[in-house]
Amino acid sequence: MDDYTLVLNAGSSSLKFCVFHRPESEDWCLESRGQIESIGAESRIFARDAQGRYLIDEKPQTQVRDTREAVEVLAEWLGFTYGGARVVGVGHRVVHGGPRYAFPTVVTPQVLAELRHLVPLAPLHQPQNLAAIEAVSEHLPEVPQVACFDTSFHRNHAPIADLIPLPREIRGSELRRYGFHGLSYEYIASVLPRVAPEIAHKRVIVAHLGNGASMCALNDGKSIDTSFGFTALDGLCMGTRPGSVDPGAILYLFQTLELSAKEVETILYRKSGLLGISGISNDMRDLLRSSHEDARLAVDYFVFRAAKEIGALAAVLGGIDGLVFTAGIGEHSAEIRRRICESSAWLNIELDAELNASKGPRISSKASKVSVWAIPTNEELMIARHTGLLLGLVQPRAHATT
Ligand code: ADP
Repeated sequence: MDDYTLVLNAGSSSLKFCVFHRPESEDWCLESRGQIESIGAESRIFARDAQGRYLIDEKPQTQVRDTREAVEVLAEWLGFTYGGARVVGVGHRVVHGGPRYAFPTVVTPQVLAELRHLVPLAPLHQPQNLAAIEAVSEHLPEVPQVACFDTSFHRNHAPIADLIPLPREIRGSELRRYGFHGLSYEYIASVLPRVAPEIAHKRVIVAHLGNGASMCALNDGKSIDTSFGFTALDGLCMGTRPGSVDPGAILYLFQTLELSAKEVETILYRKSGLLGISGISNDMRDLLRSSHEDARLAVDYFVFRAAKEIGALAAVLGGIDGLVFTAGIGEHSAEIRRRICESSAWLNIELDAELNASKGPRISSKASKVSVWAIPTNEELMIARHTGLLLGLVQPRAHATT
């Protein structure tokens, strides 16, 4: 490997990374994928090569207190492992692009300053995303960096889909629905022509069900509407976020319980959703294993809310032709897929039990009018593609049909 592109996805307690090398064929080739997890506690760095073999799995010698220190640990490992190679670009997942950034953007000090203003709109992710950019600037000042936004894919909605019906004078240009998980949806839309050609240009709902969860209504591969809104709190029930909540309930937290803005923020981002309902865990695997009635209630609500969203997005699309499950829960939990599809049977959705228990990608029965799919997402590859195009590392045609 001569040159490589590094992709970083900095989260609240982890730094995920991928190393891609220059495409000789039609798309980026994964060299390795890993993460530094439990930042701020008992951290661990691990990485595997493209075949899944471990390249490293150990506790760093010094404590990793924050994203900046995680980048230092990563830079050391990259230097050790790929010493002879040259990093030609770094692509970052940045959750919020705000009203201005509709496309991936080369990072400059001015871009960074503007993205900092958006921290209150994505307090769980944006600070870490920007800290990773700053840390790379320190370590590799000569390497160009690209910010790829989770909001960009949704920027061509009809205005009505992005409207927040509050008074015009306080709405301005900022208070609107943005939508998130756009890199995941863009990736899924990019592979549908190959994986599921019969629905690629039709009406499709993609369910990105991970720790964060949302759905996107696609028509001909373009986002028409999505369950996330102004922030990544709206819509579906998530690991620690509640999804849609009556705004009156939030007023109650302030007025009756007299909580501070910071306390309400913590409740909404870190203590609600599956964790809040169950009081046990934000991890779907724990809840599915548990026989506790509150764990069952959390799973029931997750399924109830997901089925309700499918109905809403089907109404927006005027019917659906395909349903795609992706991300941690969507890709791996046959039980959650089964339950959501059973609740959506009125849309002529029917799973094939055997296919659903397999790896897919198609998991619906022959009789099902809506075809159902389980397709792994790959936000990192999407970031590598954008970074390569923007930095002129690949020809625009190279992966146009993948
Ligand atoms: P994120 O990237 O948003 O942190 P992921 O897409 O990795 O999240 O998904 C994490 C979620 O996926 C967790 O709730 C985890 O429990 C769930 N998950 C992973 N594998 C399974 C499985 N086999 N069954 C049920 N849930 C699973």
